[in-house]
Amino acid sequence: MTPEQAARQVLEKTNLSTPVDVYLIAQMYDVSIQEREMEDAISGMLAITDGRAIIVVNKDHAPRRQRFTIAHELGHFFLHRNSTNVFIDVSPIYFRNRLSSEGTNLREQEANRFAAELLMPAHLLREKVHHKPIDAMDDDAVSCLADEFQVSVQSLTIRLTNLNLISLH
Ligand SMILES: [Zn+2]
Repeated sequence: MTPEQAARQVLEKTNLSTPVDVYLIAQMYDVSIQEREMEDAISGMLAITDGRAIIVVNKDHAPRRQRFTIAHELGHFFLHRNSTNVFIDVSPIYFRNRLSSEGTNLREQEANRFAAELLMPAHLLREKVHHKPIDAMDDDAVSCLADEFQVSVQSLTIRLTNLNLISLH
């Protein structure tokens, strides 16, 4: 199963409205979420002890960034919980860390793909833009969409680019 398929499977169990409620999804799977003071460089972590999963998120980060972190950690929970018990994510998690091993890189990429599909489901995004790429220069359209999905403009732009839903003139 691809990370996107895993995310869609989870989404199918929700009412699928925007913004996607990552807190509710965590609750559905008995994953607790805690906000804690952490170094600014750390976005969050997933820890599994005695079968109990906890996501810890940096309390000083902006809500949209926290949502992405939670979605990313849920990705580790659904995709990788059998491989290790603790995942710690340094920010920004969107970019590949050249120092980490290949295996780690792969898991991070998979968690990001899961998070992107969970927070910005491809078919919902296509519907919202009426199957027409939006103009990259149209800041209002991009930020309006980011508000609707409660994601950062940066992660939405990456997502739109990957889905060929943004046009550069
Ligand atoms: Zn990660």
